[in-house]
Parts: sequence; C-alpha cells; structure tokens
Amino acid sequence: MSRTFNVINPATGARVGAAPDASADDARAAIERSVAAFPLWKAKTAFERGDLLRRWRDRILQNEDALARLMTAEMGKPITESRGEVKYAAGFVDWYAEEGKRAYGDLIPTHAAGKRLLATRQPVGPVYAVTPWNFPSAMVTRKVAPALAAGCSVVLKPAEQSPLTAIRLAELWVEAGGPAEVFQVVTTSDPVAVSEPFFADARVRKLTFTGSTEVGKLLYAQAARTVKRVSLELGGHAPFLIFEDADIAHAVTQVMATKFRNAGQTCVCANRIYVHASIREAVVVQLAEAVRALRVGDPLDEATQIGPLVDRAGLDKVTAHVADAIAKGARAVVGGQAGQGLYFEPTLLVDVAAGMRILEEETFGPVAPIVSFTSEAEVIAAANDTPYGLAAYLWTRDLGRAFRVSEALDYGIVGVNDGLPATPHAPFGGVKASGVGREGGRWGLDEYLDVKYVSIALPA
Ligand code: NAD
Repeated sequence: MSRTFNVINPATGARVGAAPDASADDARAAIERSVAAFPLWKAKTAFERGDLLRRWRDRILQNEDALARLMTAEMGKPITESRGEVKYAAGFVDWYAEEGKRAYGDLIPTHAAGKRLLATRQPVGPVYAVTPWNFPSAMVTRKVAPALAAGCSVVLKPAEQSPLTAIRLAELWVEAGGPAEVFQVVTTSDPVAVSEPFFADARVRKLTFTGSTEVGKLLYAQAARTVKRVSLELGGHAPFLIFEDADIAHAVTQVMATKFRNAGQTCVCANRIYVHASIREAVVVQLAEAVRALRVGDPLDEATQIGPLVDRAGLDKVTAHVADAIAKGARAVVGGQAGQGLYFEPTLLVDVAAGMRILEEETFGPVAPIVSFTSEAEVIAAANDTPYGLAAYLWTRDLGRAFRVSEALDYGIVGVNDGLPATPHAPFGGVKASGVGREGGRWGLDEYLDVKYVSIALPA
C-alpha cells in the first residue's frame, strides 16, 4: 500500500501527517489475516488474553502525553481533555482484561433424567469496527478491548479525520506483545469502497459502528446482506431538564461540563436545555457568566477550554443552526458567531422554541439553547419528542420526581443530577435512532459473544 492521505490540524490548517490510503484489495487482505487469526486467538484462555490486554493498557498509559498530543493535533480537542480521554480509553482495556474471565455459562436444570443442558458463550468471530473522530482513542478501545477479551479478531476502520491515533493504538498493542493480525487498523479516505468487502464476506461475523445515525442506517442495511451481529452507537440529541427545585449552581456547572466538552462535539452533549420558567432568569444569568468565561484558543495550550470544530462541514452546520434559531426569534445572550478558521464562539441562546432546527437535530457545537417549561408532563413530552434516545439529564432534589422522570424518558442513559455519567464499567448506548446494543461493562462483552446451547443425552 503506497498511497496515503493527509491529516490536517483543524486549529492551524497545517498537515499533521499522512495515513495509508487503503483500497478494497487491502481490505480483503486484512479480512484474510483476521479470519486466519481468529481460531488461534479464540483458543487462548481468557487469562492469556487478559495478560496481553493489561500490557496494552500499560503501554497506552505510558504513552499518555504523546497520544493526547496526537489526538489534539488531529481533531482539535483541548489537550487537558485529550489526556482525560487517554485514561478513559485505557479504562476500557483495564476493565475488559478482567471481564473476559467472567464470560460464564449456565447449567440449565434438566427436564429429562438422562439429559444435561448447557448454555455456553463463544466469541462471535472476526469483527469489523468503524469509529468516529470525536473520541479517537476511547471509541477504539470501547470496541476493541471487549472484542479481544471475548476471543474475537478485529479489523478497525477509524474516521478519516483521526486515523493516526488508531494506528498508534495498534502499534502499542503489538509493542505490548499482542499478535498484529488479531487487531488490525485499515485507514482510508474512501470508507465506502473499503467497507464493501467486509459486508460481502460472510466470514466477518460482526459489525460494530459508532458514528452518525445517517451512516449507521446505511451500514445496518449492508450488514443484513450476510446477517452479521450488529452494534450501533449513533447520534444523540440530549435534553437537559432543570426543575424548579434543582440546585441551580450545580446544574449550571454540569451544563457547562456536558455541553462544552470537546467544543460540543459529543453524542451525549446537552443539546436542548429545558429550564423551569420560575428559575429561568437565575439559570440564564449564571450560565451567561460561565459561557463568557470559557477560554477559547490553541487546543495545545493547557488553559484552553474550547478548541476549533473538526472541519468545515461541522462549522457550517453549527452556523446554520444558530442562524436558523435567530431568524425564528431566538436571541444570543453570549456569542452567536463563527470565529477565526474553524472556531465558533461559545454561545448561549434564549427564547428557543419548537420549529427551530436546533431543537430537532444534533448541533455538534458549542451552543447552549435554553427553552423554558412550566410542567413536568410538558417537559417529558418535549424531551421525548425526537427520533433520538441516547442520553438525557434531569436536575431535581425531589426523589419521587427523579424516579418518575428518569423512568418516563425514552433514553438509554439518564443522568440524575449527573452531567457526566459515562464510565467503562456501566452500559452506554441508545434506544430508537440512537442505536442498537450497549458498550461498557458486562453488556459490552455480550456484544462479542454468541450463546451456544449444548444438550447432552447421557448413555443409559
Ligand atoms: P460519521 O457517521 O460521518 O462517520 C463515522 C465513521 O463512519 C467514520 O469512520 C467514517 O469514515 C465512516 N463512514 C462514513 N460513511 C460511511 C459509509 N458510507 N460506509 C462505511 N463507512 C462510512 O460520524 P462522525 O462525524 O465521524 O462522528 C460524529 C457522529 O458520531 C455524531 O453523530 C455522534 O453523535 C456520533 N457518536 C456517537 C457515539 C455513541 O456512542 N452513540 C459516540 C461518539 C460519536
């Protein structure tokens, strides 16, 4: 493979480096290696696989700073967040190094004296993994660590914007003693052509995808051709509900944490902030102060809190959402404009109402839209009025309301007075158009295991 494509730093426009530009033939070769490696890897014990995973975790942590700098250069995430992400990424490897040992089966009580019934769990087979750019290391390990722990071989195709981090992670796997053909990375500027051989090949038994709902639907249909197991982690449109009995100061710090992380480019970012009318003024005043105080700048600078958006398409979408909201009657209390290059000003919008694009689609930018509400029933209906169902947040001091509302929200993840619920050992994933399956914890391992039922008739 001699062709390459350039990776561009969104903060500066400079070339970060180049990644191999794989073709469909390269993909076919990777599949052959993966299919050949699978039975050997499956035959290892979970303890042997766990040892290698732990060594990989150590290599990742030893390289925290270099990996963090690479991620920031590739996709513009502030360096302090990149360091946090490397730890988070290593956390998945750490968890699954152990969890692989707990892929228990069942001995089922028999219905016939001469029979013994067993349910065991076996690796699904070679896996095709496709990841996005917004978490260039954690989205990789959240898939690859459980797949490897379960005994699957993996070919990973990272996003065009952040291929170098994925390549480095695979190198660290090999440096840790992991077999190269068990975890391969295929980078390409043409994801459609490179994905086709995986969908055509029935020996690839699983598709795991994280990315937009639009692309996820296409790949879901493609995976049906050879009836693959499928996990989809797709887009979100998170509502953040602040009730009249909330701790306002705490709610504001958590809106800031979930909304402005990664310049608003996460699938669980608060995308719609519903505030009870009686406390709206207080919330807006405190939020405005916090948004104004955000440090925008060079993402390699330790003090920077907001970097650039990843690319021109991302910036154009954010700009269009804000312009649409303002044209329909919203007001920018802070920000509202694109800045230099790929930057967009941290923005607080008020008087946001139904019919605006910002309340219907994922914005993926540093824009906090405030909508006011007066009743619990009204805000639950508004929160659920979307095709998406990934994360939702609610703020209240009333225990009854915390249960009632979290049960009524059609979402895979609910943060109750918690703006950052994700952690490697808990289930992460959505309902409705936000996806299929769960990553993290024991649920994440199940995605790579098939149940096998063995019925044994004993000799008389
Ligand atoms: P994207 O859907 O554009 O791309 C994701 C991946 O799919 C990339 O690797 C890309 O190369 C590949 N791809 C694109 N078109 C393809 C095609 N036709 N065939 C095969 N592969 C194709 O998404 P993105 O812009 O990289 O990431 C942002 C999206 O990811 C947002 O919608 C975000 O909410 C979502 N996301 C979801 C989660 C989650 O856990 N639910 C986590 C992170 C990001």
